[in-house]
Amino acid sequence: MKKFIVYIFLFCFCITGKAQSDYLSYRTEETARKLKEYIDTLKIIDTHEHLLNPDFLRKTNILDFFLLMNHYYYDDLITAGMPEEFFNKLYNGNMPPEEKWKLIEPYWNRSLNTSFALVAKVAARNLFNVNEINANTVGILTQRIKSAYNNKNWFETILKDSCRIEYLVQDDDALALKVDWIKYVKRFTPWLNVRTKFGIDSIAMEQVEPIFTLEDFVKSLRNEFEKGLKNGMVGIKVISAYSRNLYFEKTDIAAARKVFKTLVSGDEDLQIPWEKAKPLQDYMFHQLMEMAKQHGVPVIFHTGLQAGQGNDIRNSNPVLLANLFHEYPDVRFVLFHGSYPYGGELATLAKTYSNVYIDMNWTYAISPSYAKRYLSEWLETIPASKIMAFGGDYNCVENIYGVYQIAKQIITEVLTEKVSNNQLSENEARQVAKMILHDNAVEFYGLP
Ligand SMILES: [Zn+2]
Repeated sequence: MKKFIVYIFLFCFCITGKAQSDYLSYRTEETARKLKEYIDTLKIIDTHEHLLNPDFLRKTNILDFFLLMNHYYYDDLITAGMPEEFFNKLYNGNMPPEEKWKLIEPYWNRSLNTSFALVAKVAARNLFNVNEINANTVGILTQRIKSAYNNKNWFETILKDSCRIEYLVQDDDALALKVDWIKYVKRFTPWLNVRTKFGIDSIAMEQVEPIFTLEDFVKSLRNEFEKGLKNGMVGIKVISAYSRNLYFEKTDIAAARKVFKTLVSGDEDLQIPWEKAKPLQDYMFHQLMEMAKQHGVPVIFHTGLQAGQGNDIRNSNPVLLANLFHEYPDVRFVLFHGSYPYGGELATLAKTYSNVYIDMNWTYAISPSYAKRYLSEWLETIPASKIMAFGGDYNCVENIYGVYQIAKQIITEVLTEKVSNNQLSENEARQVAKMILHDNAVEFYGLP
């Protein structure tokens, strides 16, 4: 009898346990569905793109299936062993898609697993109804891309209607699309990376103002800064991590002047190593920070993985920037790309300094798993008001669309998990979604 009671008890326990877990998984699915629906209603701010002008694209030889692969996925093809000499054929060659595919196919087969490839696949599937990119489908995919571009509103249809982008922040003003919903951030690379006489002379020629002294050089930087303000720049973009490390020391003016003199008094082809140019580069960088402080313009850093081959990842560790966060408490700094792979370091910096923000653009394209892991961790460690969660970092609208689909899924999964764990209520999860996809960027860049 006793044994029978135990069985009954165990039976009931199992039934209740199973019912409970069914109920929990139903609840999780419900939460995910509701959150996804909510996110689909949001207007979003896209904080970072390198869009090519669609009129320019129409004239190029990449307006075929390769358009979807032309940006970061090209790097994966190269690291999978594709010869670099293919560059010219792929970008400039006028050849049928099937012939172009023959060049790519062996390397596609080696690298079709990466997230950069996934972005192309999502765009092909959702926008052009091509479920798999292969020898049989590149022709039809090309046709469909070309006919999409026959529609002069294609660009806006994808960005404004499909992605619901309210404002988009373009890297530099080269896009030359004067629409009020595209804002831009400006680079000052010729000043920050200065290490040639030619570089200084080119600035003087462009501004039609001679540069004889260090003070003239600073003045030329100020001219460019003021030009940026006049043209509506919403931030300063620093890409120094591609050419040197991110440690910008406060430099004595005499050391900077010495480097400047070496450069201007040298031969026209004089180029010095960046380590030797560092006192001048650092000095100019701090001049730029003073201007940013004076005008309340935020500063954006490329951190973490650099695009292309052979870059030095040690240069882009965000920890190298810590002295600036102390030195300029009134300047707001945002660290791009989730600092991949330095997500923990980034969390620590954004947690420690009130003037440091996180931007997840490109992160979903590099690795959705990393984006998921760190968005979850950052929501545990950092005020949600300091996280900006979307930017494609791509040059064509199709890839932006692809990344946004992945981003929405990741954000939904992370927030659903927080609700399931009782870390956030459903209401709070919605509030966070709106902050990280819209409100934070509006406030950070002072968008209307
Ligand atoms: Zn970028």
